Amino acid sequence: MSDFEGLRALVTGGASGIGRATAELLAARGAQVAVLDLDPSTVDEPLLAYRADVTDDTSVRQAVAAAAAGLGGLDVLVNNAGIGARGTVEDNPDDEWHRVFDVNVLGMVRTARACLPHLRASAHAAIVNTCSVAATAGLPQRALYSATKGAVYSLTLAMAADHVREGIRVNCVNPGTVDTPWVGRLLDAADDPAAERAALEARQPTGRLVDAAEVAGAIAYLASPLSGATTGTALAVDGGMQGL
Ligand code: NAD
Repeated sequence: MSDFEGLRALVTGGASGIGRATAELLAARGAQVAVLDLDPSTVDEPLLAYRADVTDDTSVRQAVAAAAAGLGGLDVLVNNAGIGARGTVEDNPDDEWHRVFDVNVLGMVRTARACLPHLRASAHAAIVNTCSVAATAGLPQRALYSATKGAVYSLTLAMAADHVREGIRVNCVNPGTVDTPWVGRLLDAADDPAAERAALEARQPTGRLVDAAEVAGAIAYLASPLSGATTGTALAVDGGMQGL
């Protein structure tokens, strides 16, 4: 097996942004890839596409079972589906906290739970969670979102410990601000989109937003046997935002 040839991968949130770039990169390198998304209508061959809502355990179980059957097994889960949230602790009511945690944290838990029996049967099993620089950077106006990504970071470390002896590696990527449709929507909603974009660019020492393909490259590395001795780590893809 080359590093990607023959790998069977499931990418959640794979119809857009980081997930889409990851699904396309893995497929281009020879992996067989299935996408799980709320709206997979734009996903084309050779990617397999399955509709599911990660807040609905039954739909996740059904989609994962169908994807594993379609791929003939599972080696890789890219746990990537997620949503944003703005504001301080005073801005979002409890039900909004529950809603965003349900997608960003429990969504990853449900998907991992459904995938683990399949991953145990793989010789190259890996889970990569899409976390965020927000998990550790202390970003303003991101209390709820940051808390969900802090949970994803801790979940990654705990899962790595739980499953390492089963041969399943668990890592995460911590992107900075990535040029995806999500960030496009965020900019569209700003009073001054150009000024908001400039502020986001200035926050990263590289002076530009991260490209979704650059996050996909990091995820692909952590998903493949190239990183076979690496588990329980967070790989920053943040234009030097933390650490420089
Ligand atoms: P995006 O909005 O472009 O894509 C997200 C995808 O997830 C969409 O296809 C959407 O349909 C799907 N999705 C959302 N809720 C879902 C649900 N309940 N069930 C199934 N699918 C669902 O977003 P993106 O920017 O590519 O973000 C992907 C991940 O990257 C998220 O976890 C996000 O927190 C993380 N992230 C993004 C950035 C950024 O700046 N864009 C930075 C750090 C981390």
